[in-house]
Amino acid sequence: MKVKQCDLKYIGTNFSHYPMDGKPEIAFAGKSNVGKSTLINAILGRKALARTSSQPGKTRTINFYGVNDMMYVVDLPGYGYAKVPKSEVAKWGQMMEEYLTRREELRAIILLIDIRHEPGKNDIMMYDWLKHFGFDIIIAATKSDKLNRSQIPKQLAVIRKTLKLQPQDVLIPFSGEKKTGVEELWAEIEKFLPG
Ligand code: GDP
Repeated sequence: MKVKQCDLKYIGTNFSHYPMDGKPEIAFAGKSNVGKSTLINAILGRKALARTSSQPGKTRTINFYGVNDMMYVVDLPGYGYAKVPKSEVAKWGQMMEEYLTRREELRAIILLIDIRHEPGKNDIMMYDWLKHFGFDIIIAATKSDKLNRSQIPKQLAVIRKTLKLQPQDVLIPFSGEKKTGVEELWAEIEKFLPG
């Protein structure tokens, strides 16, 4: 998709803050530092629209970026940051559960996994949780520029095995640095948007 226009439209922590206009949305989830802001900026073709690096201690929010006045890219708060107090983790869980169970506009979820590492306990839990809710999930394997060409297929196989992906499940290597995977990801996203 050609992004002609995009901006941050809504920031919220509960259902009453989210858009009510019924436009379809695609949500992005992943561990803190996985490269989610970088990926969102890359697919929206902006340098610094999504903030990079979630700052610990700051209130975590769900951010809605309006795109071409026809959809939302939704930035979900990252998980797995070691220094977050239990009360914050509980708030994160509540916010995520409410969003995931009630958002009828949600068409698919992109789960980001760092291509260099075997998915961790949190990643597996997140994937299984999303599966359990019955969502269509696209996996983006981030920071692919950090591996050489022969390592990429090996690490993709590790991710497939650890998350127990089926052959038809979509896994896309992505680099925000090199902008590789942007078109592949949009092609997958567009399958969930009205023609
Ligand atoms: P977030 O916490 O998931 O939003 O992650 P950020 O987008 O803030 O990225 C975390 C760190 O990883 C930053 O230092 C980024 O510069 C770096 N990073 C993110 N994406 C890439 C990438 O594709 N390639 C490389 N080499 N570094 C990346």
